[in-house]
Amino acid sequence: MKGFLLVVSGAAGTGKGTIIKKAMPKNDRLILSVSATTRSPRAGEVEGESYFFISKDEFNKMVDMGEFLEHAYVHTDFYGTPRRKVEEEILNGKIVVLEIDVQGAKEVVRKYENVVSIFIIPPSFDELEKRLRDRNSENEAEIERRMSNARIEIGQLDSYDYVILNDDVERCTEDFLSIVRAEMLRTDREYYDKTR
Ligand code: 5GP
Repeated sequence: MKGFLLVVSGAAGTGKGTIIKKAMPKNDRLILSVSATTRSPRAGEVEGESYFFISKDEFNKMVDMGEFLEHAYVHTDFYGTPRRKVEEEILNGKIVVLEIDVQGAKEVVRKYENVVSIFIIPPSFDELEKRLRDRNSENEAEIERRMSNARIEIGQLDSYDYVILNDDVERCTEDFLSIVRAEMLRTDREYYDKTR
């Protein structure tokens, strides 16, 4: 089977991280790409699992060496997808999940052929703000920045293949897995020996 890229975007607080985490163990072809970022780790985040936390100098060096498949400046920091691991896993037939913002998603769609994209939306902006406040990981200025970014990003919804409304985590995880399953079954995803 051919591997492919699965881009997942959605504002901070939409629950995309939770959905991805719940879906991963249910389909063994899924693998999550770990991004590099210049932002500081939040409480509970683990180096090499949540992100590779690196300095601006290191980030710039990786950009210069062409080590990112895509990168973007989001909110107040740089984020990038390390290229090598993703390309290796695609060759191994894996479905590589990239949890990235809309700028990064556009770059990936422009550069690669085999991309499926999903946009996850919250039930409303009020609910999004509530979730951001409840998770208690951002200060007031950061919450405002994320809310204004969410309003801008949702304008890009139409450029994605699929949209999932996250009003219920379990149902959304099922939606996510259904998209993956259907995409795996496309005729162009497998190498068939038509003589046998
Ligand atoms: P956070 O700082 O809340 O973890 O992430 C902020 C935003 O950056 C989210 O929208 C997230 O999807 C996005 N992001 C995380 N990693 C990457 C990446 O490697 N590339 C791009 N373009 N965006 C990323």
